[in-house]
Amino acid sequence: MAAQDLQCEVVGFRELTPTVFEVTFNTTPGITFESGQFISIIVAGAGPHGRDLRRAYSIASAPHIRPIELCVKLVDGGPGTNFLYQLRPGDRFRGMAPYGDFTYEPKQGRHVCFIATGTGIAPFRSMILSETFRKSPPVSSTCLLGVSEESEVLYDSEMSTIPGLRWVPAVSRPKGDWKGFRGRVTDYLRSMGSDFPWLETDYYLCGSGAMIDEVKQILSERGVMKDAIHQEVYFKSPKEKQS
Ligand SMILES: Cc1cc2nc3c(=O)[nH]c(=O)nc-3n(C[C@H](O)[C@H](O)[C@H](O)COP(=O)(O)OP(=O)(O)OC[C@H]3O[C@@H](n4cnc5c(N)ncnc54)[C@H](O)[C@@H]3O)c2cc1C
Repeated sequence: MAAQDLQCEVVGFRELTPTVFEVTFNTTPGITFESGQFISIIVAGAGPHGRDLRRAYSIASAPHIRPIELCVKLVDGGPGTNFLYQLRPGDRFRGMAPYGDFTYEPKQGRHVCFIATGTGIAPFRSMILSETFRKSPPVSSTCLLGVSEESEVLYDSEMSTIPGLRWVPAVSRPKGDWKGFRGRVTDYLRSMGSDFPWLETDYYLCGSGAMIDEVKQILSERGVMKDAIHQEVYFKSPKEKQS
């Protein structure tokens, strides 16, 4: 479906964690999208010289679910996230959707491993909750989510109860008595042994550019072919942008 110009009406707002919030909305006209696609939000007049600013957000809800849900990390001083953060039910905003080809492709006889940092979990939630995933499940599915503190783990109660999904939240700097994996997703990936079907798995990576580069390096060392790796980079660190 080609991207359409949309009027969006907010129906819900809630804090998911201390740093991530959820905005839910309906669109006019209605849209169809594939899990993993994103919406481009238009922030009127917030760009240079008063131009409109656009920011991309993966749709976190499954394609058959309405209203549409986004999960957004509040970035200090960021115009896009601060615009979304002040929205409340009844507010309207403009968007363009659907965009993107970071979509889930079921493949006969293959395993799937989703690897995210932070709100990079959004497209994977959409994929895992989709009818396509339910009707054509992979042989096995693993989902790794990397965050700094345990309070930042997203969708834990939902993900931990999905039948057949191995859900691994990796917390790099836990504050309390965190019982789960301590370290980054890349540490967890390195700890996975030869009993993991490395070469029979399709990998979907989403979030920070640094994590994605490191994961690709690990996968390459395991002999994984490039065409088994799909990625969506949300942002690059200032250091990565220079290189
Ligand atoms: C295809 C695509 C889909 C995306 N989907 C999502 C999504 O579902 N949820 C979401 O929160 N973001 C998502 N992003 C990032 C989003 O588009 C914005 O870049 C982000 O929200 C910051 O916008 P801003 O205007 O508030 O801040 P800006 O001023 O544009 O950004 C300031 C800095 O914040 C950092 N930053 C940007 N995004 C993040 C993040 N998610 N976590 C930590 N630091 C960040 C970067 O270093 C960036 O340079 C997506 C990006 C792309 C390309």
